[in-house]
This record gives sequence, structure tokens and C-alpha cells, in this order.
Amino acid sequence: MFDALSDRLSGIFESIRGKGRLTEADIDATAREIRLALLEADVALPVVKTFIAQIKERCSGAEVSKALNPAQQIIKIVNEELVAILGGETRRLNYAKQAPTVIMLAGLQGAGKTTLAGKLAKHLKGDDHSPLLVAADLQRPNAVGQLQVLGQRAGVAVYAPEPGSGVGDPVKVALDSIAEARQKGHDVVIVDTAGRLGIDEEMMQQAREIRAAVNPDEVLFVIDAMIGQDAVNTAEAFRDGVGITGVVLSKLDGDARGGAALSVRHVTGQPILFASTGEKLEDFDVFHPDRMASRILG
Ligand code: GDP
Repeated sequence: MFDALSDRLSGIFESIRGKGRLTEADIDATAREIRLALLEADVALPVVKTFIAQIKERCSGAEVSKALNPAQQIIKIVNEELVAILGGETRRLNYAKQAPTVIMLAGLQGAGKTTLAGKLAKHLKGDDHSPLLVAADLQRPNAVGQLQVLGQRAGVAVYAPEPGSGVGDPVKVALDSIAEARQKGHDVVIVDTAGRLGIDEEMMQQAREIRAAVNPDEVLFVIDAMIGQDAVNTAEAFRDGVGITGVVLSKLDGDARGGAALSVRHVTGQPILFASTGEKLEDFDVFHPDRMASRILG
């Protein structure tokens, strides 16, 4: 991801490198090129507009005109603005004052929610937490089994309705899991919820009900970075329909153009907390806006 954007940006910077003073025309041309590069990377238009306005304003100021090396200064400004658009500071998980902390995962089917649940559990376990994975996705036929396998691999307990028990109510499963966590001493509960192929009212309603029942400390929306701007629109729909406190980017290892990853923070106003970069449990990290910006700028 971002390879094409990185190449484009380094080409743009190359063309101004070595120039002494930059004229207003040089700055305009550079801003235009950056705008095109972002649009080609599928970054949402409002994000591109805000970004370019910032770049132009800062590049026309004393920061660049007085700089010994204006090209270097422009790269620095682009870097800082990329960090800003990605959320600025690293946003850590909010933990409940009184355990257990409840993290609810939401998103479309196939976004990578269940996989993410396993990854997050493993990550938290490595940080000396004792997570409980909760299978409240009772829609997708194999979601419960998949979570059990992931739990086993991560060495993390899984709470799921007994097969054949007739418990088909995800709200009850989610609610009961909190009591289970208290009883067994788990300090974090990760609730995997059902997704659909597209947004539908029934799914939103179920997610709202689970949210109301368990009062989560975090509602993380898992977005498939491969599906571009559609993913961002879905995140907005979930923000408005369910209420989310943050975003997780999944499939950042894919070869999509990266626009969703660059847009989602600005469009939804919600921070990106984690990034998922593959199918294995280890392919996961806390999201750091500054590291991502450095990666894009190569
Ligand atoms: P859910 O329906 O949202 O629970 O999605 P799943 O967790 O079942 O993931 C859907 C598919 O995407 C599975 O085949 C996963 O192995 C795959 N997947 C999940 N996360 C990633 C990722 O970060 N990178 C890649 N390449 N594949 C992923």
C-alpha cells in the first residue's frame, strides 16, 4: 500500500530539490502535483482540499521563503501535515477505571473483525492483560468457530454460546460475557459482533443494542483499507448509526492505493488506533501517525 503515492511524492520532491529560492509559481506547481498524487491514491476530496490548503498556506510563508533549503522545508511541511491528517498523536486504548474494560468491534462482513479480535487479544495478553474474546457474531456461520481457533492460537479464553444451546441472542451473549469476565478475572473483554456485506438497518440496530447493553469503553470500527472510499463512507454510517470511538485499519498489506487509510480520520473525526497488516496474529500494531507518514514519504 502507498507504493504508488510514495513514488509520486518522491518524484515531485526530486523536481524541486537543488533549487534555491522557490517562486510562488514553483509552490503552486508543487501543490498541484501533490493534489493530483493524493487524488490518484483515492484520498477523499475534502481531505485533499484541506491538506492542499494547509500546504499552500505554509509553503507561501516565511518558513519556506527564508529557508536555506526550501525543498527540504516543503518535505518537512508535507510530513507534518500528513501526520496531522492521520490524527497527530498516537491514540492509546481507553481503559475502564473499574475492570473489565469492554471493547466492541464493529464493521462489515469480511472487513477483518474476527481476525482483528484475535490479534488485539494477543497484543493485550503480551501487555500483561487478561483478555476474554466474546463471540457475539452469531450471523456468519463460522464466526464462532473461527474465534475459538484464534483464541486457542493466541492462548486467550473465548466466551461463546454452547453449540446447540439455542442461545442465538448476541446481546445476551455479550452481556453474559461481562459477568463471566468478572467471575474469571479477565480485565478486558473484546466483543466480536456481526457484520453484513453492506450496511443494513437490522445490523445497525443489533450493534446499537449490544452497545447499549454492555456500555463499551471503546467501539472500534474495523475498516478494510482495500476497499477505498466506500470503506470511509461505511465508517461514517457506523459513526452516526452506532457511535464509534475509533477505527482500526485492516489489510494494510494489500496493494490498494491507500486513500481510505489517509481519509478515514479526517472524514469521521475518529482516531485510528491499530493497523492490521496480514492474516497472521502477529501482523498487527498500534497505529502511529508519524511512522505512517514517514513510510509514505519514504
Ligand atoms: P470479519 O467478517 O470482519 O470477521 O472478517 P475476517 O476476520 O473473517 O476476515 C476476512 C478475511 O480477511 C479472512 O480471510 C482473513 O484472513 C483476511 N484478513 C483479515 N485481516 C487481514 C489483513 O490485515 N491482511 C490480509 N491480507 N488479510 C486479512
